[in-house]
Amino acid sequence: MNDHNLAKPVAAIISTGDELVTGRTVDTNATFIAERLGAIGIEVCSVITVGDYPDRIVWAWQHSLAHADVVISTGGLGPTADDLTSESVARVAGTQLKLDQSEAERIRQHFQKVGRPMPENNLKQALFPIGAEIVPNKLGTAAGYRLVVPMNERRPVAVVLPGVPREMKAMLEDQVIPWLLQQAPEDRCTLSRTFQTFGMSESALDEALEGAIDPSKGRLSFRASFPQVSVRVTVTDTRTDAEHRLDGLAQIVRERLGAAVIAEGETTMEEVVGKLLREHRRTLTVAESCSGGLVGNRITNVPGSSDYFVGGVIAYSNELKQRLLGVQERTLTTHGAVSEETAREMALGARRATGADLGIATTGIAGPDGGTAEKPVGTVAIALAADGLDDGVRSRVYRLWGNREWVKLLTSQVALDWVRRYLLGLDPLTSVFGMRGRKR
Ligand code: ATP
Ligand code: MG
Repeated sequence: MNDHNLAKPVAAIISTGDELVTGRTVDTNATFIAERLGAIGIEVCSVITVGDYPDRIVWAWQHSLAHADVVISTGGLGPTADDLTSESVARVAGTQLKLDQSEAERIRQHFQKVGRPMPENNLKQALFPIGAEIVPNKLGTAAGYRLVVPMNERRPVAVVLPGVPREMKAMLEDQVIPWLLQQAPEDRCTLSRTFQTFGMSESALDEALEGAIDPSKGRLSFRASFPQVSVRVTVTDTRTDAEHRLDGLAQIVRERLGAAVIAEGETTMEEVVGKLLREHRRTLTVAESCSGGLVGNRITNVPGSSDYFVGGVIAYSNELKQRLLGVQERTLTTHGAVSEETAREMALGARRATGADLGIATTGIAGPDGGTAEKPVGTVAIALAADGLDDGVRSRVYRLWGNREWVKLLTSQVALDWVRRYLLGLDPLTSVFGMRGRKR
């Protein structure tokens, strides 16, 4: 559809509804749409959230249509008086609303099927701006539509979808995305590759990748999904060229980020660790204090983990640390439960008790209480016992942050990253995250 300039379109998103501007409902629709557009290489130039007022909706549409080739909106398609999207779109397009007989019939049938009388105002959902192409809604009564809205020399397209997230998502995936992909010339395609990273902040990643990718060749985007950050490279070209170029760019990303890349695609840290343990034919045990079993939980979330995970000890009390893991009383009184010394004895003790190849230990202060000036909340000691390490064990104190749940999650993430790095032949201490304290 070259006349709409949809070969490499720029998109805008409009979310309509009082509940969104008052903060009663979180605008998940815009996020979802932006993410899906990004994945097919379509840039979003703006996201506007607007309340249910005709003039404000018109303003949002005028602004969006002036800057984008495709404007995707959600909400305001319902039967009630505060659902004003179609009137507003018709106004901006300089056209009228017209009843679509087959949609009206479908709505009537829908009510018949569920055995309820149809309120007359429901027919409002069969009114569409003249010239609209209907986007059917299999899950609800409000159909969506596409409409070309001439703006001077440009012909941007309005894509209007209902607000109900479930309906919107199905329509976007099944109809809008395929339609958008069709608009690209035959020989053009958009490919992307995603890398999961851990240990570097978004800004550190940005810095590390500075100048790595010529913006005319590909696009880099970052997404933080705590505690990982994913990096995506997107390329648009003919299929062969896109594949080739993407391979090259992916290689550059891998080289620049090194071991901070834990995996490609949507893989989790525990899956990566499991795969490495299996490949290296090693077994793992855990000695967990502050993470309360979270490391073991995450490890066992991966199917088949019994191949490499033998189990472990949640040694929360000092007594259990001594009794089950053989931590020395002296160590606890001299250095405290949250110390490298204790973590080391826990890791060694777990290994000794279970015979596993690797023993990972966590001990720390998850908060909100229990912190001191010397060991504030978030102070966490990690230790790994395994062959090939000096004295058979490595340890470090980290200074993590956040609330109790975050500290636990981060602790498990760092612990898993230690196992990953060790199995990759790296020093676990290269896992730098909220790092503090000395090396041992
Ligand atoms: P219908 O009235 O046919 O259900 P609609 O297009 O009128 O569809 P709305 O009435 O605006 O949709 O919203 C329907 C539901 O979807 C409401 O519960 C609303 O809170 C929710 N919703 C609307 N917009 C969004 C959004 N951007 N993100 C998340 N939820 C939304
Ligand atoms: Mg609404």
